Amino acid sequence: MKPVIALVGRPNVGKSTLFNRLTRSRDALVADFPGLTRDRKYGEGLGASKPFIVIDTGGLEGGEQGIDFAMASQSLQAMEEADIVLLLVDGRAGLNPADIQIVDHLRRNNKKACLVVNKIDGIDENVANSDFYSLGMDTMFSIAASQGRGVSSMIDYVLADFPEPEAEEDREEQGIRIAIAGRPNVGKSTLVNRMLGEDRVVVYDMPGTTRDSVYIPYERHGERYTLIDTAGIRRRGKTKETVEKFSVVKSLTAIQDANVVVMVIDARDGIVDQDLHLLGYVLETGRALVIALNKWDGMDLEQKDRVKSDIRRRFSFVDFAAIHFISALHGTGVGDLYKSINKAYDSARRKLSTNQLTRILQDAVLDHSPSMINGRRIKLKYAHTGGHNPPLIVIHGNQTDKLPAHYKRYLEKTFRDVLDLQGTPIRIELRQDS
Ligand code: GDP
Ligand code: GDP
Repeated sequence: MKPVIALVGRPNVGKSTLFNRLTRSRDALVADFPGLTRDRKYGEGLGASKPFIVIDTGGLEGGEQGIDFAMASQSLQAMEEADIVLLLVDGRAGLNPADIQIVDHLRRNNKKACLVVNKIDGIDENVANSDFYSLGMDTMFSIAASQGRGVSSMIDYVLADFPEPEAEEDREEQGIRIAIAGRPNVGKSTLVNRMLGEDRVVVYDMPGTTRDSVYIPYERHGERYTLIDTAGIRRRGKTKETVEKFSVVKSLTAIQDANVVVMVIDARDGIVDQDLHLLGYVLETGRALVIALNKWDGMDLEQKDRVKSDIRRRFSFVDFAAIHFISALHGTGVGDLYKSINKAYDSARRKLSTNQLTRILQDAVLDHSPSMINGRRIKLKYAHTGGHNPPLIVIHGNQTDKLPAHYKRYLEKTFRDVLDLQGTPIRIELRQDS
């Protein structure tokens, strides 16, 4: 799984600036959808030597209540679970008592950490750094997050110790990797046990792994799958051990590592903000998605209608995903989930040819051409694929920067319908020729 890097530090030291730089936030993708509360704190690290996950833990004040008090918070838990912590300090403001407190906390928890002196633009780097030697951190970087100075060499240094990610081809024998995501108590572990307990499911024991393994390979109707079990779901279900704490970091790494995410929602609770946060994150990663409205058993007609209209309204931003109404407890609808999982997997990995894409583009333009801009028509000439998983379609033309968002959506819908791509987001990139 990808390394997890947590950004820690007092407010205003530049954590979110660094976060945005590391993730090259694809805000635009999600910003189109009003009402989607975005949790800005988790992102996919892009443009470095290896893929990684970055978490902005929010400002740690230190202060009267002390860090121990704040331990309860989700952000400190995230820091705990990260593989490495980058402690940001402000090179202009100099050493602050809260910095010392954070370092103490990291030491007490034996956390692997590096010191990052930020905002060194326009000041003497050596003077700025010298203020922080007393923290006694072994590894120190100086950066200017707002300009990107020092950022990529820092991140490559940090990532150097982590193993190379396994090539997708080497993971073929795992079949379709499925992550079951959702907030606590929606029925994830019940669903996992149901999926593995189904008729004709053969669960393999992977050689060389313990029963604690997070990867559970199995076969169903001749198709191979691997469930990514984030919270010891299977063990918990079998042995009724104490329920483990819901771990955001584990859910996120599982989502990242999956081919298809099954997002479980508790139909009885309706759709809540935390569901939308997680869905927003899934969308950002570009993973194929299947939505399961669980606990559909025993709901009355009125409740069902209310949930259904709620879905139409609030899930419009993931309208590519199939929605299933299931009961993990009774097993109703669980078999059908697999149809959507298989379909989404195939769609996400489909190889698309330049010919095919260009033909669909040209037909779409013939049916409904883009508007005139200053007396000139926007020309869309040809399309080719820029990658899959999720499918990326690159369109070349003139004045493509002026193409209205609704037209882009029209193109996306056309590609989706003609190519029968289901369960996966499609990314469209516009390139300007000449
Ligand atoms: P956070 O509260 O730790 O997330 O800090 P922000 O990322 O919001 O940054 C706080 C302020 O510091 C903002 O006004 C940023 O523009 C500024 N800032 C961040 N990085 C740098 C930097 O490298 N150089 C300078 N001069 N200012 C920076
Ligand atoms: P998790 O925290 O998401 O793994 O949720 P669990 O699988 O532990 O389920 C939480 C509670 O919901 C348990 O009491 C389950 O028995 C119950 N539950 C799970 N699925 C269903 C379902 O389909 N119908 C009903 N009525 N209850 C369910």
